[in-house]
Amino acid sequence: MKFDCLIIGGGVAGMQTALLLGSAQKKAFVKDKKIGVITHQRSSHLENALFNNVLGIPSGTLGKSILSESIEHLNTSYVHIQQIPKEKVIAISESNNGYLVKTNKSEYLAKFVVLALNYAKPFTIKGLEDYLIPHQKANPNKDRIQLRNNDHFIKEGLYCCGTIAGHRSQFAIAAGSGAAVATDILTLWNQGMHAQVHDKV
Ligand SMILES: Cc1cc2nc3c(=O)[nH]c(=O)nc-3n(C[C@H](O)[C@H](O)[C@H](O)COP(=O)(O)OP(=O)(O)OC[C@H]3O[C@@H](n4cnc5c(N)ncnc54)[C@H](O)[C@@H]3O)c2cc1C
Repeated sequence: MKFDCLIIGGGVAGMQTALLLGSAQKKAFVKDKKIGVITHQRSSHLENALFNNVLGIPSGTLGKSILSESIEHLNTSYVHIQQIPKEKVIAISESNNGYLVKTNKSEYLAKFVVLALNYAKPFTIKGLEDYLIPHQKANPNKDRIQLRNNDHFIKEGLYCCGTIAGHRSQFAIAAGSGAAVATDILTLWNQGMHAQVHDKV
């Protein structure tokens, strides 16, 4: 299966990237783009989290419910974004004009890949070893990791967001970085003209 953009990870950063790209569906430069998200959630930091300090999220919300609701939200609002559940990425390699993403069950080609894993060890995806470094904004005693990047850009067609991009672990930061990557990709699809998505009443 071939994608214009494949997002890896169904946590905060990954689902925010997917929602924003999904919301751009009416733009002429997005209409024909095939977008997917590998919605692996088993190792999300949302699993045990409780939120009292995130704008727009009612106090007392469980991370666990955000996990299931984000899948439903994406499916209800932007059904054209292909969700790939119950698969774990095991390797990524360059392929002509993009990347080959291998999971435990299948293989996908993608022109853009967005890595939205978290900063926990072990990092088990083969092919990205050269980019792995100690996390620059976490307690060194916790032994967290990140991918080397410049404003989420790793190399042509390859992006990261959320804690694996080197951000501190806060919901709003992870979501914001996912949104930032989505708008970077939209801008590239728009021939370099800056793009954003705003719905109006
Ligand atoms: C106990 C706890 C309490 C917290 N409380 C707060 C709080 O009060 N306020 C706050 O702002 N933040 C809080 N946080 C932090 C917040 O949850 C994280 O900052 C946020 O989840 C990070 O988002 P992320 O996208 O980087 O990672 P995640 O949300 O963890 O998403 C990463 C995703 O990648 C997937 N994945 C991993 N490996 C693979 C693979 N090989 N293939 C495919 N997918 C893969 C995972 O399953 C997961 O779904 C808390 C965290 C914890 C653990």
